[in-house]
Amino acid sequence: MSLAAAPTPSVRVRAPGKVNLSLHVGPLDDDGYHPLVSVFQAVSLAEEVTATQVGDGAGISLTVDGPQADRVPLDATNLAWRAAELLARHVGLAPDVALHLAKGVPVAGGMAGGSADAAATLVACDALWGTGLSRQDLVALGGELGSDVPFALHGHTAVGTGRGHLLTPAMTRGEFHWAFAAQDEGLSTPAVYGRFDELVAAGRLAPTAEVDADTALMQALRAGDPTALGAALHNDLQAAALDLRPELERTLEIARNGGALGAMVSGSGPTVAALARSRQHALAIAATWTAEDAADSVWCTTAPAAGARVL
Ligand code: ATP
Repeated sequence: MSLAAAPTPSVRVRAPGKVNLSLHVGPLDDDGYHPLVSVFQAVSLAEEVTATQVGDGAGISLTVDGPQADRVPLDATNLAWRAAELLARHVGLAPDVALHLAKGVPVAGGMAGGSADAAATLVACDALWGTGLSRQDLVALGGELGSDVPFALHGHTAVGTGRGHLLTPAMTRGEFHWAFAAQDEGLSTPAVYGRFDELVAAGRLAPTAEVDADTALMQALRAGDPTALGAALHNDLQAAALDLRPELERTLEIARNGGALGAMVSGSGPTVAALARSRQHALAIAATWTAEDAADSVWCTTAPAAGARVL
């Protein structure tokens, strides 16, 4: 009798990208951070991370595929790599793992794809190494890696405060349809915040994190009303992103002319998000962007989506 070789243990985890339904940015604090109030919604565009066991002492290795894989670092600067290292250090294990990222979120598009990789890696390595950490532990580790990582673990819809990492779940009903216009040339998040600070200093923008915002937005989510949600979308970073990339105005205009219920720059951009009435409507907006050469790639998705979970 011959015995089949034992399969190599491997764990696959999916984690979502996000759209900021609202993003209120406060003035720079003494630590060099901007306090945020943001409503995050996880979208069904997602990253999949596979963590595979390797021999003792093999260390971390990383491979990536997906439409924009050539734009992703393959070394220790990758957030997935850093997540595996951090978890191993936290539990006192050697960081031995082969990571594979299947990227489904536009890269450097303000949709937190790298943060989703980090979240998925934490969950995958926790399962692979049998470290048995709680979700709370993983969220705390995620917060050390980046302020968007806790939300990629959480998923669904949530209000984020602090640096965006302190999350309170938001109640929503139904499903929303989004179209995204992504650009090959990303915008650096620090550069967008830098321009935001310049615009504030010049008196051309007022920081808003102090305002009691988003009542209409939360009502729209609770009612599952896409028209009201479209009217309530808000992004304080949009002016800074448009100042750096004026051509995004046209991308926004095309979506509005196409009947989008709301259109805005997503997070720090340069991706533009358009809220549609239906999947067909999202596809139509995306097709118009393509026809008018207003995006390098277009993506359609539904929301909300679940947080990082083992497949
Ligand atoms: P941010 O969280 O800064 O808003 P983003 O959502 O705009 O980021 P990401 O795709 O997460 O964009 O990555 C931004 C940059 O981070 C990339 O240009 C890349 O150099 C670097 N990076 C590090 N790790 C990753 C990763 N796993 N996937 C993609 N980019 C990564």
